[in-house]
Formats: sequence, structure tokens, C-alpha cells
Amino acid sequence: MQSNTSGQDEADTSTNKAVLKVAVSGPFLTPLDYLDCDNLTETPEMWPRLIGRRVEIPFRNRSLIAIVVAVAPADYALEKIKTILRWIDEEPILHPQDLTFLQWVSDYYHAPMGEVINTALPKRIRGGEEASIHGHDVWTITALGREQLQNLPAKAKAKRALAEQFLTCETPLNREICKAQTASWRKFVNEWLDLGWVSQTSGPCWQEAVAVPGPQHALNSEQQSAVDQVVSHVRSGDGFASFLLQGITGSGKTEVYLAMVEHVLEMGRQVLILVPEIGLTPQMIQRFSAHLQRPIALMHSAMNDTQRHCAWHSVRSGEVSVLMGTRSAVFAPFKDLGLCIIDEEHDTSYKQQDGVRYSARDILVRRAHQLQVPIVLGSATPSLESLFNVDQQRYRLLTLNRRAGTAKPPKIRLIDIRGEKIQEGVGAKLKAAMQKHLQAGQQVLLFLNRRGFAPVLMCHECGWQAQCPSCDANMTLHQGSYHQYLLCHHCGEQMNLPESCPQCGSEELHTVGQGTERLEETIVEWFPEKTVLRIDRDSTRLKGKMEELTQQAQKGEADILIGTQMLAKGHHFPKVTLVGLLDIDQGLFSCDYRATERMAQLLLQVAGRAGRAEDEGEVLVQTHHPQHPLLLKLINEGYGAFAEAALAERKEAHLPPWRFQCLVRCEAHNAQDALDFLNSLKAGLELQWQTLQQESADTVLELWGPVSAPMMRRQGRYRYQLMLASDSRPKLHQLLTLMLPHIYQSPLARKVRWNLDIDPQDM
Ligand code: ADP
Ligand code: ZN
Ligand code: ZN
Repeated sequence: MQSNTSGQDEADTSTNKAVLKVAVSGPFLTPLDYLDCDNLTETPEMWPRLIGRRVEIPFRNRSLIAIVVAVAPADYALEKIKTILRWIDEEPILHPQDLTFLQWVSDYYHAPMGEVINTALPKRIRGGEEASIHGHDVWTITALGREQLQNLPAKAKAKRALAEQFLTCETPLNREICKAQTASWRKFVNEWLDLGWVSQTSGPCWQEAVAVPGPQHALNSEQQSAVDQVVSHVRSGDGFASFLLQGITGSGKTEVYLAMVEHVLEMGRQVLILVPEIGLTPQMIQRFSAHLQRPIALMHSAMNDTQRHCAWHSVRSGEVSVLMGTRSAVFAPFKDLGLCIIDEEHDTSYKQQDGVRYSARDILVRRAHQLQVPIVLGSATPSLESLFNVDQQRYRLLTLNRRAGTAKPPKIRLIDIRGEKIQEGVGAKLKAAMQKHLQAGQQVLLFLNRRGFAPVLMCHECGWQAQCPSCDANMTLHQGSYHQYLLCHHCGEQMNLPESCPQCGSEELHTVGQGTERLEETIVEWFPEKTVLRIDRDSTRLKGKMEELTQQAQKGEADILIGTQMLAKGHHFPKVTLVGLLDIDQGLFSCDYRATERMAQLLLQVAGRAGRAEDEGEVLVQTHHPQHPLLLKLINEGYGAFAEAALAERKEAHLPPWRFQCLVRCEAHNAQDALDFLNSLKAGLELQWQTLQQESADTVLELWGPVSAPMMRRQGRYRYQLMLASDSRPKLHQLLTLMLPHIYQSPLARKVRWNLDIDPQDM
């Protein structure tokens, strides 16, 4: 971004006239030039107040809404520059520090500023709606209402539920809260307004009911020390610092966050808490709201546009002090952000996998640095990158090695299943252990990270397998509620089962392998008197179902829980004492070098579900590779030793975090188009690199490819990729900056879909 606010008065001549630089969503490397319809650009003192405002602009044959990111001399002849249609805002909707942050994201990921802004803003704001929300109708119970609403007839259940809410709640109620009580809330409220039982006023848009406070724990010494270090930093006003809070599962990390947040709120500042996609459970929100005794704004993918707009407005205006959200909440504008927290910082859901491929964790560290506030990254199993940053003394390490309260860490054992008779994925040892724990009245959790009934449908005669017509992948067989069907987990294609083999006509079609549905069927057969709950993407598709199932599990209403990684994270099941992992081997030998790290994290997360209360937990891990060195390290010496060994392997192999990577992905209906694009790009990169090396030749660039993606064909497109790796991040970035204009102009690029992935997480 060109700087523009001072000392450029002389530049304001007819040839060097200042124009609006407008970030437009689309493939534009730089902002576009526009003239101001109101001539506000004539007054340099006005410029800072123009930047960050939305404008409506003529663009091709349409009008678009975009944001002014600078005022600076025109790049084009003035007569070619169009004039904006109107100013949407009278004041900037983004603060300078927000724009600086977004510009940094744009530069770092080599993504157009307009695309970054588009990713950052709620849809309503992108659409031109007013940024601020001035009050919403809220209702308060009157003195008369207090008398009358207690005496509603017993059979008016819905009415009584709403009345109860009015009677117990100190603060006025908004529509969201009323609606949660009964669908007929509007009718009742109108009726009570007429009777003078409630009164109507205007209230802030974000107004969740605050949960009833629960029991408070006195922090143990480890917890207290972690809190003290961060809080003393906050209090000293020393600005930025990055803390890695490494605490085993159940060690009370959440309790530590809460204590830190409390301190920052006391100072009158705001807090952002990022959680993984499936970490934002009602329990988590309830815990924060109950402890902090104030409303918490939320931002996540299941919210509607109004709710997002309201959350955005509430933190921007300072009406709400705590924002908890998934990945995209990282962009929320704050009035006065004082602390950032990322829970389960290793979680892969922090990486956006399309559009602007940002890592919410990485950019939040950057944002905290820009704002000069501390950031806390928490995890039981930190990413290797973060541990590396601790080694490099970029992050300070805080550790919690004990489980909070009386719970003890579970014992983890490997079970060698080579040569053992396996029934439907469960070996004899695991089955025996299940019987023992169930007889003692305890809960058992079985983990299998594959949903559906069976991953393969195969012909017994000729070996034919049901394949997705658009992807290089098998179709998974699902039981469904009414009939069996085949589903591609990569593109969503769904088909009926063939009655006979399409290749040889045989009717001997067999299912191979286990999914959670099949496991459930087996377990129900084995333990007919026990209750079995399956928790995976299919069983929780309906709204509220996830919560319902986990609550059942928590209350101990089910004996056996079967689940995919949805079940692995964050949940607290006090009665689970045995956890069985059925199949972790796919994580040991994968073409993706991050697979072992993920396997280790998942294994410990799942294991962490065992024995979280008084009863000691046991974890059994079935494997065909009980001698695998990293697996043994993990089980015998713990995550720290595993991570150290894994980092050493990465160093040896010149992989991140020792190297910096950028992956160029390309896909096309015609494979040759994709290859041509990447080959020409590669040639260009090699040439540019030589020029860069002439200045200083001390760095390495490796180009791998083009090679086909791990799944070469997906949704009917052929996919190839080119990997760039270097030991110098600045130089890699310089190279991309030089190359990008060529890519944008290349005729080959028009025949393909391509994208850049900086610090890619998936191969
Ligand atoms: P983590 O987030 O590290 O998995 P939690 O914060 O969820 O751990 O804590 C696990 C359990 O221990 C929770 O039920 C919590 O209420 C309890 N707990 C946390 N800190 C304490 C403490 N200091 N004393 C007693 N119980 C605690
Ligand atoms: Zn066949
Ligand atoms: Zn498919």
C-alpha cells in the first residue's frame, strides 16, 4: 500500500492528482484507481478519514461495493479513470490498524487485498448495509407483570417457559432469547405489552442471557503460575509476547484462560478467543459466560448473516468485551483488544483451505504483534511449528503437567494385532477389556476415524471396486435410515448400490473394511443389553443433534460411545474409563509428512477422554506396527519426546519448520493444460531465481514437480502441483512477488484454476 497521508501536498497537481485506491474483490494484484464524486480528495487533511470507508463504484457493466485503502497519485491517465458512484459510509468502518493487518495478510499470502477484505467482512457489510446497528427491541418485565406472570395456568406450557425467563432474568430480553423459549414468543410478548406486563425499549444487538455461575475452582500451583506470567505481562503494559500453554488433557487449560481473561476485562479491554471448528460447543460457551458473568459474542459458520453482523458490530463498538469464534473471527475489528487466546492451537481447522488460504493461528500472532498485546496459544499437543518457536525463543513456554483436581493421566498401551483374529476391526484383547470395564458399570469409547459402513464395495469374482465417477477415490457404503447407498466423501456424489457387478455381472458384491456404522452394528450385536451411541458427521447432521448426543454421553446415559474425531476433542465424559483406538496405522505411513504429527495429536486427544474423573483411565491402541519408532517414543516417553524426534526428522529431510514452502496447485478438465501452466511457471521461477541469486547467492530454492496431486482427479478435474521450498522466507516471497504479475497475465492461466498456498498444511 502506498503511504499517502502527509507531505504529498505538492503532488496534488493535475498530472499527479490524488485519487482513491479502491480494493475490489477479484483477481487484481493492486487496488484500482477511482475519482471521488464529492471531491473530498482535494483536501489532504481529509484523506485519513476516507481510508477504510466503503464506496459504490462502477465496474464493467455493474456497480460494486468496495473499500478505499489509500489516497495516492493516479497510476493511469486521469481521463481513463472512472468516478465512484457514492460514498456508503461517512466514517471509516475499518480502523487503520485493521487495514494494516489485512494488508499484511494480503502481502504474506500474495492474495489480492480485495479478496482479503472480502474474507474479513460479514456479508451484510460487504453488501453495503449500515455498519452500526442502532438498538434492537428488547422487553423488560413490569411490576404488574411480576405479579401476573407467576399465575399462568399450568397447562400453558410454552407461555410459562417464556414467563419464567422474564421472571428470572435481570436484564431485558431480546428476540433471540425469547425465541429460544417458544416459537409463539411474538404473540405472547404482544399480548403482555397490551396488558402492561412487559415494556419495550431499545437494547444492544448482542444480548445472550448470562449463564448462572457454577462452582469456582482454586487454581493449582501450575495453573496459578501460568496465569501470573501472562497477567504480569499484561499489567506491565510490555506489549507483545507470545506464550505457548502446553497442558496435558484435563490439566485445566480452560480454567487458566478464564483467569487471564478476567484480569484483562478488569482493565477494561477486550479479548478474542479462537477455538477449533468443533470446539465451539455449548458447554464451552456456557463455561465462559458463567465464569465471566457477562455476554459473550460468538462468530462461527452456523450463524446467520444478521447474527454475524451483530457480533461484528458489538466488538467493533465495544458493546461486548469477549468474542469467541472459529477461524474467521480472527478478522473481527475490536475497539480495544487486550489479549488473544487460541485454544487447541495445533488444530487443522485454523487453516482456511480455499480462497485466501490463511492460517488463523499464524496471522493472529502477527495481529497481536501489530497491536502490541500478548497472545496465548494453548494445546495438549502443540504443533511442531509452535514447539520450534519455543526452541527459537520466539514463544515462552508455560506448562501444566498435572491433571486438575484428582484425575490421573490414563495409561496408554499398544496392542499388536499382527496375526491376531480381528472381528470387525476389534481384536480379542480390546474386546475383553471392553467386557471388564462395562461390567464395572463404566463407559467405553471406541475411536475409528472413518464414517460410513464400509470404505470399499468389491466384487468377489473379478475384483471390481465401486469408484466415484468424478474422483480417483472409492465410494463409501452407507447404511442410511431407509436404504443402502454409495457416497463419495470427496465430492459428495451419491449413488444406489448396483444389483450386480457392472464388470462381470456377478451378484457376489462384498463390503471390505470398517466404518463407524458397521462397528456400531457389531457392537450392538456383541453387547445387546448395553446402550450404544455413534457420534460422527452423519449421526449429527441435524441441528442440535451433536449437543443432544454429547449430553447423553456426558450424563452417562450410554455405555459405549463410537465416534470419529468429532468425539475426540474437548468433550468431558466423566464416566469413560476405557478408550480403544481401532486403526491408527494410516497415520504412520502416508505420503503427507505431517501425518505422524496428526496421528500423535489425535491419539493423545482421544486418549485424553479416558479417566477424566476419579476412575483411572486405560487406553488401548491397536496397531500392525508396534515397533514404529515414533509411535514407541510417543507411548513410552510422551509427546515432548515424540515432538523432538519428529522435529529432528524434519530437519534431516529439509522440511518445515526448517524450510518455508509454497504450493502452487492447478486443476483443469484437460490434464495437459494444467501441466503446461505449471511447467511454464517453473521455467519462469527458475529464471527469476537466478536473478535474485545474483544479488546474494546464499540461499536454497527447491522446485518439486509438477507432480499429480495425491488424488489426481477430483470432481472431474485433473490436479497437479508444484512445490517451492526455500530456507529464506523473504527470498521466497520476493520471488513470488516478481512472478505474480506474469501469472496473472499468462494466457495459460486462463485455461486452468490455480491457487497459491503459503505454508501449506495438506499436500
Ligand atoms: P483442559 O482444557 O486442559 O482439558 P479443563 O479446563 O477442561 O482442562 O479442566 C478439566 C476439568 O478439571 C474440568 O472439569 C475443570 O472444571 C476441572 N478443573 C480445572 N481446574 C481445576 C482446579 N484447579 N481444581 C479442581 N478442578 C479443576
Ligand atoms: Zn465382478
Ligand atoms: Zn467423488
